[in-house]
Amino acid sequence: MNGKQKAAALLLGLLLLVGCGAAETDSTESAGYAPASQEQQTEPQRWRPAGSMMPVSGSSVCSTRGDTAWLKGDVQVDGGFLWQTVDLKTGEREVFCAKKGCTHTDRSCDGWLELGNDDYLCPLPDGTLALLYGRGLPGEEEPLTLELRDEAGRVLRSASVEPETLEGVIYSDGVGLYLVHREYSQTENGVITHVLVRISLESESFGQKQEIAHWENDSERFLPGICTGNGVLAAKTAFEQGADGVRIPMGGVLYELAWDRSQPILAQAGERQALWLPHSGQAAAFRYDYDTGMLEQVDLETGEYTLFAQLQPGLLLTEGAVFTDGWLFCNVSGGAQDFTIAVQRGGHPQHSPMQIVLNGRQQSPVVRQALEGGRLLVQMDQNEFLEQYLDDDGKLTEGVTSEFLWGIFTPEQYLNGDTSYIMVESEREM
Ligand SMILES: [Zn+2]
Repeated sequence: MNGKQKAAALLLGLLLLVGCGAAETDSTESAGYAPASQEQQTEPQRWRPAGSMMPVSGSSVCSTRGDTAWLKGDVQVDGGFLWQTVDLKTGEREVFCAKKGCTHTDRSCDGWLELGNDDYLCPLPDGTLALLYGRGLPGEEEPLTLELRDEAGRVLRSASVEPETLEGVIYSDGVGLYLVHREYSQTENGVITHVLVRISLESESFGQKQEIAHWENDSERFLPGICTGNGVLAAKTAFEQGADGVRIPMGGVLYELAWDRSQPILAQAGERQALWLPHSGQAAAFRYDYDTGMLEQVDLETGEYTLFAQLQPGLLLTEGAVFTDGWLFCNVSGGAQDFTIAVQRGGHPQHSPMQIVLNGRQQSPVVRQALEGGRLLVQMDQNEFLEQYLDDDGKLTEGVTSEFLWGIFTPEQYLNGDTSYIMVESEREM
């Protein structure tokens, strides 16, 4: 069940709620929904989000606000999972359900979400949470469900949203959820259009969907889940299989899918270089030179490169890096052993002395996500246990399943191997 972690949601810091004017959601025009003002009248084509645009999900483990995190469970319940609330100060967790008398053991529970479908949870600036999820088989044209919840998990409002593909990263500006999806054209040159769709969270237009912008591309773009002030980032990267089976980076391009529908190039990496994008913490991009080990940071405004740190050459930096409070945590696939490097600008790479066993391999605990207050969510271990479930014929069956165990660390605790970190209660003990 290791793959079930992938699509939990993330919200960094407080979203700025700026001018939440009434949305013009019945318009099919993609030129924008923004409230009419002098400025907009002189520049009708320019759409802008209502506040800072933040990624809601991607490869993050959980959504967070302050000292609370919302995490999707690993243990199967009635063909699905339970969303849970974690207190980051104590590590206690409970089911994200406020239904009176609920035993949280089947799909009638408000915390229950169906297996195999993506779902996104987004804390909003007013203290409520938006939950967006699909039902039915992935790829089927089923409507989505949008819910507004309070912090205890009570459903305050629910709406059915027109069918939409839920995949990868979604974003929020606090008053809308945004999806970037791909459309493949029928033409010979196979143009791919990336479309930005807005789903309204505002009371008068809750759940209404509208196309905001689109960009035509010659090929797929990978969305690293990073926003700038002007748009969302998209990347194209390439690797080559070396003689000994090692993946060697072969360059890449980082684009901005800008609100004005342009696609400026922000950064480029050449042969035997990698563009490398932390998925959690501060928005940032790096360029790593495979032959020299030089790691440069890309200025997302100017496109300039500055030396960040000198790493070992020949590293395969994998996805899932975290950049927070000046600390960069990179996960490295090292053949015999995976490990995590922590480095600050101009500093020397460091390792945690802690060791865990994951998938039968010894490695350092994996820093998976930046939390507020400079804290880190760290994947510690895997808990295996026997689980009883009903199989397709309705027969009670027993099988081995597992859940990840999580720890909350400061960077210093992590680097010193300090065991006074906070352990998140396991789902089995909850
Ligand atoms: Zn329940």
